Amino acid sequence: MVRIGELLAAGRTLSFEFFPPGTEEAERTLEKTLIELEPLAPSFVSVTYGAGGSTRDKTRQIVVHIARDTSMTPMPHLTCVGQSRSEVVEIVRRYRELGLVNILALAGDPPKGEGEGPSDFRYAMELIELVRSLGDFSVGVAAHPELHPRSPDRESDRRHLAAKLREADFAITQFFFKAEVYLAMLDELAALRVDKPVIPGVIPVTNVNQVERFARLAGAEFPPDLAQRLYQVGDRPEEVRRIGVEVATGLTAELLDAGAPGVHFYTLNSSRATREIAANLGLGPPGRSPNGR
Ligand SMILES: Cc1cc2nc3c(=O)[nH]c(=O)nc-3n(C[C@H](O)[C@H](O)[C@H](O)COP(=O)(O)OP(=O)(O)OC[C@H]3O[C@@H](n4cnc5c(N)ncnc54)[C@H](O)[C@@H]3O)c2cc1C
Repeated sequence: MVRIGELLAAGRTLSFEFFPPGTEEAERTLEKTLIELEPLAPSFVSVTYGAGGSTRDKTRQIVVHIARDTSMTPMPHLTCVGQSRSEVVEIVRRYRELGLVNILALAGDPPKGEGEGPSDFRYAMELIELVRSLGDFSVGVAAHPELHPRSPDRESDRRHLAAKLREADFAITQFFFKAEVYLAMLDELAALRVDKPVIPGVIPVTNVNQVERFARLAGAEFPPDLAQRLYQVGDRPEEVRRIGVEVATGLTAELLDAGAPGVHFYTLNSSRATREIAANLGLGPPGRSPNGR
């Protein structure tokens, strides 16, 4: 199994994110998506983890399936808030026994309302320390170019991110729509003497309402000019998709030209938009690259 920190040191990465499906039909869609994206030879693929451990088994099953039955390198996401130390230790040990070497260490969001269980963790930093103590993992973390929604101010957000990145091997960002927010974050990290690789996360908009909702939750700005362009064709899904792919292609090109260490696509478990962007930019295995980007 390949360590993502080492892949990043060797060159630019291409990666895809999936989430554990909730129905049998969605499972079939994910399976089809995995088959369709595998030929792009991603450097790694990641699988999200439901807040508070709600998809613990599902996340592990998908990760194991990818590791055993495909040529792709999987990285499980793992959150810690709302869980006990022993639960989290058990998961990390199982990943180690399965031969996995990469983990995305996240705080996750505190459980809402009633039924709130005990939590032995508050911040992702505590999970990084735990994961490091349990095995020789390559550890990634989350970065929020437009600040984490719970951050009281920019200065403390960047200070905590810098501290976290010093202990981790790399970061992947929340999605965003303007390259400058990512580049500004890199400058702010550099000013704090942190230069670990930060992979930008890109989401192709194929459903305006859905992405607008995600952006609100994630504290990412959905630019009004893009929203307007998409709403103008809102009753024509194919046109929305075409614009979404065009915009994501432009953003990805800008990020790679600016020297991003890789690109991470939020696939939403569907392959088409990601395949189209990859084809537009010649991303993928050597020999499939029309313009060598
Ligand atoms: C690439 C990516 C993948 C994700 N995958 C998942 C997933 O699979 N499952 C899921 O549930 N969620 C996921 N998330 C969402 C993430 O869990 C939430 O954003 C969560 O609210 C914060 O996680 P974090 O790891 O960024 O937290 P942290 O790094 O702990 O930061 C959370 C907040 O606390 C502040 N903070 C950090 N340390 C301190 C400190 N010592 N003192 C005071 N304040 C501090 C930070 O500035 C920030 O405001 C993902 C996010 C990204 C960007």
